[in-house]
Amino acid sequence: MSHAHSHDHHHDHDHDHAPIEAEDTSSSDTAILADALRMVLIEKGIFTAAEVQDQLTLMEGRSDRNGAAMIARAWVDADYRDALLADGAAAAQALGYDTKGTPLIVLENTAKVHNVVVCTLCSCYPVTLLGPSPEWYKSKAYRGRVVRDPRSVLREFGTEIGPDREVRVHDSTADMRYMIMPKRPKDSAGMTEEALAGLITRNGLIGVAEL
Ligand code: FE
Repeated sequence: MSHAHSHDHHHDHDHDHAPIEAEDTSSSDTAILADALRMVLIEKGIFTAAEVQDQLTLMEGRSDRNGAAMIARAWVDADYRDALLADGAAAAQALGYDTKGTPLIVLENTAKVHNVVVCTLCSCYPVTLLGPSPEWYKSKAYRGRVVRDPRSVLREFGTEIGPDREVRVHDSTADMRYMIMPKRPKDSAGMTEEALAGLITRNGLIGVAEL
């Protein structure tokens, strides 16, 4: 029988291809193996070419700019802010960001409370909203110490939380991710949503920095 997807290595079909400017690594052993594996899995019906493309698109779109866009929207739109605090994953979806079915809790930093995120067991992290996690987030030192003495860990990131504010540490799991809504900088009144997003750092979204 003939396959629905016949693979033509010469790419003489009529897809739009972006101009390739990066170094061509398509003939590396790893790339050839990955390519062969992908074709076998598609032909066996394990997954479809469209699913592969969706996954690649999702991976390329993983960035802390996604989380920053959500927080900036919340700062200028009270309804979105309420929705974000009520159901982070749904609010992410509303802006076109996929959390892959994992619930997301967004915690707001206030004059009274500063929140910081860790995964003590491993390194769970909202990758689609924050991009790949930094090395220090996965380190035993961070995972252990931020729970026992968060203020000293925050100090090492240059973040001094006054004695009048409570520091809360939130432990992620495979079933639950966290993202922090930093305090909006006082001098940001009148800024556009896009400019506000530019103020929001990855470390601010993890809670190890303020803005
Ligand atoms: Fe984890």
